[in-house]
Amino acid sequence: MIRISQFPTNESQAPHLRLIRTPHTNPLHLYPTSTTWIGVYTHWYLGKTQPCLLPDPCPACEENVPTRWKGYLAAIISQTQEHILWEFPESLIPTLRPYLDEHRTLRHSLIIARRIKPYPTARIIATIRPAPPDIPSLPPEPDILRTLHTIWNLPYTPGQPIPLDTVLGPIHNPTRNNRKRP
Ligand SMILES: [Zn+2]
Repeated sequence: MIRISQFPTNESQAPHLRLIRTPHTNPLHLYPTSTTWIGVYTHWYLGKTQPCLLPDPCPACEENVPTRWKGYLAAIISQTQEHILWEFPESLIPTLRPYLDEHRTLRHSLIIARRIKPYPTARIIATIRPAPPDIPSLPPEPDILRTLHTIWNLPYTPGQPIPLDTVLGPIHNPTRNNRKRP
């Protein structure tokens, strides 16, 4: 039997966004389509970045593999117009956070990220500023939490709340958080 449907139903997958990291070859120019990033505690485990599964049993934690915070946001690469999911390190939060605090959204910004030396593990630096007014119109904000679940092959419950500290990452300072977030 084949299953036919004129249009894909809700059981179809999350938006397919390629996961990319900052290349060492040339700077990445990004127009975020996410309002904000999602931060996830991860492990470098079995040769790839995988989410820490605590409080569920986490094989990496059981082997004392250290956790690393990673930020994820969706963006259009200006050079290619490809819609991607960008993974960035905790070290960029002091750059990105003040912009988010001021503008309440990353959409209509321009992030330029690059590695300071031409090798794949070199430190990443970034700038963020309002995008020029002539950028192409942005697609709607994709569900990056769902996309991450797909990438990591984890079950996903739509509408699950995202804890604020997961969004803001480890730099989160509660005394500065009196303003309502977007
Ligand atoms: Zn873990």
